[in-house]
Amino acid sequence: MNQTLIITGASRGIGAATARLAAQQGYAVAVNYHRNLQAAAAVVAQIRHKGGRAEAIQADIRSEAGILHLFAEVDRLMPPLYGLVNNAGILETQTTVANLTGERLQRLLQANTVAPFLCCREAVKRMPQGGAIVNVSSLAAKTGAPHEYVDYAASKAALEALTVGLSREVAAQGIRVNGVRPAFIYTDIHADGGEAGRVDRLQSSIPLQRGGRPEEVAEAILWLLSDKASYTTGTFIDLTGGK
Ligand code: NAP
Repeated sequence: MNQTLIITGASRGIGAATARLAAQQGYAVAVNYHRNLQAAAAVVAQIRHKGGRAEAIQADIRSEAGILHLFAEVDRLMPPLYGLVNNAGILETQTTVANLTGERLQRLLQANTVAPFLCCREAVKRMPQGGAIVNVSSLAAKTGAPHEYVDYAASKAALEALTVGLSREVAAQGIRVNGVRPAFIYTDIHADGGEAGRVDRLQSSIPLQRGGRPEEVAEAILWLLSDKASYTTGTFIDLTGGK
């Protein structure tokens, strides 16, 4: 497959697992990262070791200039764009709405909502023959994450509105736009929220009685991107252990 998939935040966690699976399925993978060059380089090396194609591309998706740089590098270095996974996302320390600051809200919305909007804009422009986009939301978009991160939940709910609205705008152009809603996946993000052991603390409340693996989310993302999901757009797959 001589087609490129851009994955934002593909150096670690769900993005890295998606990059590895995408390469196995034949995509050339643009492995975007922010600060962790070592982790991004390791993902690229694993893919190349197995005969796949990947490039690590540094870009801070919180800035429009960073996003334009990411897409310009893909145009310069890689085969035509087939797909985009808006995966990069951030979480901040657990707190209540009463304790939120304006600066924090702006950081969350910039990374989790504005950046995916701008990435979608750049991707759609490059998909005259059609394509596919998957947005990585969260179960929090449905629960609101009270006492923990209502700001994060709201940023993901907005991402879901983008997913539905854009899917209807571009369906006739042959572009499908879907989302996944993970929860309780073992990655580094929970430490950023101030509770590295959060998944283990909550696992008895999860119907399947365990946290999830990034690879389990990657499977759903790759299915939504694939022709197997050719009649699926504007919808979401929950990866929440039944919660
Ligand atoms: P993670 O392990 O913390 O990885 C975050 C990734 O995003 C890293 O590759 C990081 O790059 C990148 N990133 C962060 N800020 C960035 C920026 N400004 N520009 C470019 N890249 C940036 O996170 P994860 O748990 O895999 O989360 C992936 C997505 O799943 C997020 O959207 C998250 O909200 C969502 N999600 C996760 C869970 C869960 O339980 N883990 C549940 C629901 C939703 P560096 O390595 O360079 O820092």
